[in-house]
Amino acid sequence: MRTACVTGWPVAHSRSPAIHRFWLARHGIEGDYVAYLVAPETADAFYRNFEASGFVGANVTLPHKEIAAHVAAHKTPAAERLGAANTLWLDQAQLVADNTDGIGFLASLDQRAPGWAERTECALILGAGGATRAVLDALLSRGVPRIDLLNRTEARAHELAAFFGDGRVTPGSLQGLAAALSRADLVVNATSAGLHGAPGLDLPWDTAKPDALATDLVYVPLKTPFLAGAEAAGLATVDGLGMLLHQAVPGFERWFGVRPQVDEELRRHILADLARAA
Ligand code: NAP
Repeated sequence: MRTACVTGWPVAHSRSPAIHRFWLARHGIEGDYVAYLVAPETADAFYRNFEASGFVGANVTLPHKEIAAHVAAHKTPAAERLGAANTLWLDQAQLVADNTDGIGFLASLDQRAPGWAERTECALILGAGGATRAVLDALLSRGVPRIDLLNRTEARAHELAAFFGDGRVTPGSLQGLAAALSRADLVVNATSAGLHGAPGLDLPWDTAKPDALATDLVYVPLKTPFLAGAEAAGLATVDGLGMLLHQAVPGFERWFGVRPQVDEELRRHILADLARAA
């Protein structure tokens, strides 16, 4: 039986098994998808000898995204640019690493806010962690002309902007929030503020453009304080669940040979799964 897995340390929180098993059942595919714990001290050997694991492929979550990309025999351009992998498969027994977070982010916006890219002259990203790296790469690849990148620890925003070396990215601290918000057509929360009921960022939403689009990467809770604030100010919003669902599509297609759909039935299934886990 073809079996794929999500690997990381920890992995119990991952929703990936629920997503892939839903698609396996929908398409009547005799396969499986499991959570597989990889201890940090064994990670290098595990990914280096991935073929010996018996899995047809894997997702990779924290803290192994960099090591998996590093040891893979081949990297897609996205994994190469980001130096991190979230999706692995075997090609003639050789490990291939991809990073689908960026296309998951774009596909989610495309599905829930069609035309957003044409309307985005200026984007504002909050945060400068691993997720921001993928979002920044995605927005640059989509041709967004200007991106303000603000982070609580300003130095990390500068480091990330330097990593991309693209004049369209302007790094700064959260002190620049009101000014950046007032010119943003797309506002992205890529911080972990608001996660699991933690306090959210306090944004001066009254300074935002009324036709701006706000999106959060956090999906627990689905309506974060960030999205609630944007909605109260009359802005259109896209929650973080779509990115999670769309980033899973390329892996499933590679491992099981069918391109799956992200639709309302899948969303409802995963929301119920999240509610059970809460
Ligand atoms: P990370 O590397 O740990 O970075 C966290 C970022 O959040 C840092 O920029 C940090 O700022 C900032 N931050 C944390 N608490 C803050 C607060 N109270 N106020 C202001 N800034 C704060 O995390 P990550 O991997 O980038 O992930 C970020 C979030 O995206 C997580 O919640 C993750 O679950 C979510 N995510 C969702 C998806 C999806 O598919 N929807 C995919 C990837 C990630 P400092 O630098 O100052 O510490």
